[in-house]
Amino acid sequence: MLKRLKEGGTLPMLTSCSPGWINFCETFYPDQLDHLSTCKSPQQMFGSLVKTYWAQKMGVDPSKIYSVSIMPCTAKKFEAARPEMNSSGYRDVDLVLTTREVGKLFRIGGPIWDKMEPSQFDSLMGAYTGAAVIFGASGGVMEAALRTVYEVVTGKTLADVNFTGVRGFESIKEASVDLDGTVVKVAVANSLGAARKIMDEVKAGTSPYHFIEVMCCPGGCIGGGGQTIPSTIAKKVERIHAIYDEDAGLPLRKSHENPEVKALYDDFLHEPLGHKSHELLHTHYHPTGK
Ligand code: SF4
Repeated sequence: MLKRLKEGGTLPMLTSCSPGWINFCETFYPDQLDHLSTCKSPQQMFGSLVKTYWAQKMGVDPSKIYSVSIMPCTAKKFEAARPEMNSSGYRDVDLVLTTREVGKLFRIGGPIWDKMEPSQFDSLMGAYTGAAVIFGASGGVMEAALRTVYEVVTGKTLADVNFTGVRGFESIKEASVDLDGTVVKVAVANSLGAARKIMDEVKAGTSPYHFIEVMCCPGGCIGGGGQTIPSTIAKKVERIHAIYDEDAGLPLRKSHENPEVKALYDDFLHEPLGHKSHELLHTHYHPTGK
């Protein structure tokens, strides 16, 4: 987004982390694909880095790595199988299990929760910030991006990292952010029905926004097609509250403050949007027939 704002790329820019949304855009708006961010989804970025950066640092032959992701999402299975998702030289993500499938495996295996001790994720690539946690809620990707864009553009520290205007269950949410004189208008489409309304404006050239988040599933990934099915809206609200509570309690809440992300750029990728990050973290989209 920063590059497009500074250098005049295609706007509004659309997020690309939801493969259900990407499938929808490739199918129904094939002439608007230039608006999509070229960033791969977190699953695919992680997959390509595990078999390159992590393998190199840990001294492991990448051909011996079998990477499994646990996701809220059935569309992630399709995404992992896309032929272009092999920039590590191997299939970047070998297997995707949905959270519902993992729940079934746990039930088959018997009650194990009370035998498990809470523990930290392994390093390398285990550190995370609140910005990552909130990706699971509609508006979270936008909020995480704004926390970083604001500080990088203005050079100032945010007094309050909570962009509450993009949170919640409304179908379309809007906000404006003043980046030292440049007002950036953003929107969040919470479901594909909302995305269609927004995309019809983009297609007509009347969209007033610079940056738009689209999540395929209502509520975001907390309501994903691979999740245990929430029996009521109140259950979805509980999940969203849990996410924002976790974010609020973390010492680091902005992606650019993650020490392992900084080390990744220092030691391996060298610069955002440089050659290596372009190769491993970015992709392109293709029109598909209806
Ligand atoms: S919003 Fe739905 S389709 Fe998109 S990544 Fe989340 S669970 Fe998958």
